[in-house]
Amino acid sequence: MGDFAGNDIQKETHAFLERDHQLFIGGEWVKSASGETIDVVDPATERSIATVQAGGAADIDQAVNAARIAFESNEWSDMSPSTHVDLLLRLADLIQRDASIITELEILDNGMPLNPGGAMAAPLAVRLFRYYAGWVDKIGGASLPVEAPRTGRKATAFTRKEPVGVAGQITPWNYPLGMIAMKLGPALAAGCTVVLKPAEQTPLSALYIAGLIQEAGFPPGAVNLVPGYGETAGAALANHNGVDKVAFTGSTEVGKSIVRSATGNLKKVSLELGGKSPFVVFADADIAVAAQMAAFSSFFLQGQNCMCSSRIFVQEPVYAEFVDALSGIAAGMKIGHGLSPETQIGPLISQQQRTRVLDLIASGKAEGAEVTSGGNTADGLGYFLQPTVFAETNQNMKIAREEIFGPVTCVQKFKDIEEAISLANATDYGLVGSVWTEDLHTAHMMTSAIKAGTVGVNNHGLADITLPFGGYKQSGWGREFGLEGLELYLQTKTVSVHY
Ligand code: ADP
Repeated sequence: MGDFAGNDIQKETHAFLERDHQLFIGGEWVKSASGETIDVVDPATERSIATVQAGGAADIDQAVNAARIAFESNEWSDMSPSTHVDLLLRLADLIQRDASIITELEILDNGMPLNPGGAMAAPLAVRLFRYYAGWVDKIGGASLPVEAPRTGRKATAFTRKEPVGVAGQITPWNYPLGMIAMKLGPALAAGCTVVLKPAEQTPLSALYIAGLIQEAGFPPGAVNLVPGYGETAGAALANHNGVDKVAFTGSTEVGKSIVRSATGNLKKVSLELGGKSPFVVFADADIAVAAQMAAFSSFFLQGQNCMCSSRIFVQEPVYAEFVDALSGIAAGMKIGHGLSPETQIGPLISQQQRTRVLDLIASGKAEGAEVTSGGNTADGLGYFLQPTVFAETNQNMKIAREEIFGPVTCVQKFKDIEEAISLANATDYGLVGSVWTEDLHTAHMMTSAIKAGTVGVNNHGLADITLPFGGYKQSGWGREFGLEGLELYLQTKTVSVHY
């Protein structure tokens, strides 16, 4: 099956691609009401690889009803903690069993290279489901002192943590399986039921996982999957009054529309949005290491990643050395199909995305920034774009202000720590930041000054599942991963008893 730029895939992956992919609602595979379909394209070859039924408002309505029935059923709400833990662990085991198939699907769907993005995806999902399985029987409230005035009786009070209800989850295409697992894991551990709408560009790993959810034996309706377009299925889910909570990862613009949609029934909202993350290199840093890590964090997933170090600030004495090192690394990166183990840079998700990024590169050149590496498309089929480094940038340039979501980074000089802080924070976003230095004072000054949800010293964007992850400013609401990620799906009930 060498039709993926000379790379083979397993026969099981091939068989999955060939299936008639339907919606998963109430524990059954069903056709979409409209019969509309999505053509799934391998962005590295521009070839169609699968056809998926596209859900719309009517299907979302059915899925929300199924999730509500499941939420209120005894089978789900009275499930014993040990059965609940076992279900999540079984799902993790099934993902581990099929990891090699899921990895191939993820690469074909999104374009990400096997190393490192593709190879990390299934193990991340396995770890997430195991981690949140571990929380299921540890969710507890508190026993609190309380007075019982006027009754003459004794009083006691306690809190219970209860699931929020039906969760609508809307995920993006840039790291499909990771995004799905980081939402499903905590929602299911908390006892919510779910309607999931994956990105229209990348529905395959979600469809595969829905099959494993069925195989694991989750009660019908606990997880419902409706692939579909954002403006139809996504908007219907965000608007639906039967949804108690919506969790969204994607662009800031759509995030704002989700907030507006949520006002109908004041559903709870959590958002993980864009970033324009500063990567601040002081003169005493290990420049070779900093340049390597800047290349990694700028070009991981072709820069289509919200943590991307898209604004690199370098102190004057080491600026030229750093630009040379980063540009050299970028120029040497191997572009190709994600299935090939040597590939370091895969394609962008679509022609539309590549055109957007090329327009931004053109604007950078027009505004006087200097391209020190890349800047062009690669020859042949596939939405490839060279990893691109801009030097001599400044804060007024569009490339230094807007989230590019492509393999493009901007390097800029600074003089001293005051200037570094002011540049790092000169953005509406606040997802990630990093400081590169061996000086303890500088490190602590910067970590307290940078306005971002995750700040690294000599690392950038370390998003471990145990660590709360989310944004300051317009990068989002709430924190995913860790205990805070679970709490997004819980609400507190206070119970007081006079006896
Ligand atoms: P990107 O710019 O990275 O494609 P989007 O924010 O457009 O990110 O998409 C992220 C997710 O949001 C996808 O699942 C997409 O289908 C969905 N989406 C897009 N537009 C809307 C909308 N108006 N309402 C709800 N979901 C939407």
